[in-house]
Amino acid sequence: MILECSGDAILSIDSDRRILSFNSAAEELTGWHRNEAIGRQCFEVLALQDDQGSSLCQIGCPMLQEIVGTYDMSGFTNTKDGRRVDVSARYSLPQPNGEAPAPVVMSLRESGRLARADSLQSTLSAVVSHELQTPISIIKAYANTLARPDVSWDEATIKDKLGAIEEESDRLSDMVGRLLYTSRMDGEPMPLNRLAIDLPKEVSRAAGRLAGLSARHEIEIDFPPRFPPVYADPEKLEDVLANLLENAIKFSPEGGAIRIKGEASGDEVVVTVSDDGIGISPRDQELVFERFYRADNTLTKTTPGIGLGLHICKLTVEALGGRMWVASSPEHGSEFAFTLPVAREASLG
Ligand code: ADP
Repeated sequence: MILECSGDAILSIDSDRRILSFNSAAEELTGWHRNEAIGRQCFEVLALQDDQGSSLCQIGCPMLQEIVGTYDMSGFTNTKDGRRVDVSARYSLPQPNGEAPAPVVMSLRESGRLARADSLQSTLSAVVSHELQTPISIIKAYANTLARPDVSWDEATIKDKLGAIEEESDRLSDMVGRLLYTSRMDGEPMPLNRLAIDLPKEVSRAAGRLAGLSARHEIEIDFPPRFPPVYADPEKLEDVLANLLENAIKFSPEGGAIRIKGEASGDEVVVTVSDDGIGISPRDQELVFERFYRADNTLTKTTPGIGLGLHICKLTVEALGGRMWVASSPEHGSEFAFTLPVAREASLG
């Protein structure tokens, strides 16, 4: 009963390495039903491997090495339906006592999930302690300064400090919004309000709104004439465009052109946003869409952000029926691209 309730997968195995018992957590982890697993050899069901693809059941099994006591091993197993699961396994190997040997007990747990949860937790703490604290401290400092009873500020200074307070409050509110959004959206379908959208017009509007952010950048828009309407949620699309444009500005400190280009191709359109900035290394290109991921470079360290923007952009584009990717050559700029479906009579109902 206790073994049945355990969150860890628990198996008992005889000296011929045949499975004698298999709890529910083991069924869940491996995808094997206990009726099929019991009686089979454990290496057939688990087939533990290391990252180089070597069979740990053949080369590392403690039962083949007459080890006694506890023995830990980590690797991965493929579930019955073919999913890879990283696991850590602990064997309890009894002392031989001359009589019928006692079974070996093996407990297994998914290691990737624990590591991911840990790193998410620590990233979240780092984000909350550093990134959210910064605007709060700035707001407090400006408010304190303005409230000093011994100084009377001229109008221009008051306006300037109030402007900074407003800007930092917006930044704070944006970050809190993204944090709440990702925690709420974990696995939930995204609510959408889709309609036919004139994309070049939407892009000009987004570019106009962000043009004021930087005097060093020029936003160029390039759409062919008679561009087909796309089927998307205008608010969500605006968020995606704003995010990509803000990043393009943030990560090209020398300034330069930011190009937004549209191409129609069959049932979809492809939009690219490119810049002449610091670019993204090949390794980081695979990771920038991950939740909280920020590339490890000097500019990222000194630029505010929490690594949620691209994650949310990708989720949004996918919810709208498109795909999103990045191409970049480090130090020469980045190009973020996404697709959206063309609005057809049928999609508009
Ligand atoms: P944030 O901007 O808050 O850090 P994002 O999810 O928007 O989060 O971006 C994740 C990371 O991807 C950034 O921290 C940065 O390292 C990298 N990145 C995003 N856009 C660009 C870009 N246009 N050029 C270079 N690096 C970029």
